[in-house]
Amino acid sequence: MTFTLAIVGRPNVGKSTLFNRLVGKRLALVDDQPGVTRDLREGEAKLGNIKFTVIDSAGLEEATDDSLQGRMRRLTERAVEMADVCLFLVDARAGITPSDEVFADILRKKNAHVILAANKSEGRAGEGGYIEAFSLGLGEPIRLSAEHGEGLDELYHILLPLS
Ligand code: GDP
Ligand code: MG
Repeated sequence: MTFTLAIVGRPNVGKSTLFNRLVGKRLALVDDQPGVTRDLREGEAKLGNIKFTVIDSAGLEEATDDSLQGRMRRLTERAVEMADVCLFLVDARAGITPSDEVFADILRKKNAHVILAANKSEGRAGEGGYIEAFSLGLGEPIRLSAEHGEGLDELYHILLPLS
């Protein structure tokens, strides 16, 4: 059995960096579905001995300021609908922002199965943001560093029962 994990969160938290680390070169075939789906990148992820489908909400970065909130919401809702579990990334170095709260609300309203992760947690600069992340009310965050590949063992142990 396999499952689908959606990586969600505001721009710049490290979603694509994590996606690339999990997927490597195993990118799924690009299809040409119109609209929102086009902005969701799908790949075949491997973490230790588990394999799953991972979705990255790409394309947000090109949105204009006006449309960003609406687009982020629609993309995230779509990703949640496609996924069995959502990995909600926040930036431990930046701390929790109002935009993170918006995403937390979307995930709560959609009743998503959420794994909260404080990314950019390498070194000590992320400690404050990690503590702040508890205030989102989505449980205990895991510490991740997508760039340095840290925290993936913890992610593995959380995902293992789903595989
Ligand atoms: P996205 O917009 O959420 O897809 O974020 P990106 O993956 O494009 O990353 C945004 C920026 O954060 C890039 O400059 C990354 O190199 C950086 N970044 C991603 N993961 C980490 C991390 O674990 N630690 C640090 N320090 N920077 C990271
Ligand atoms: Mg991205």
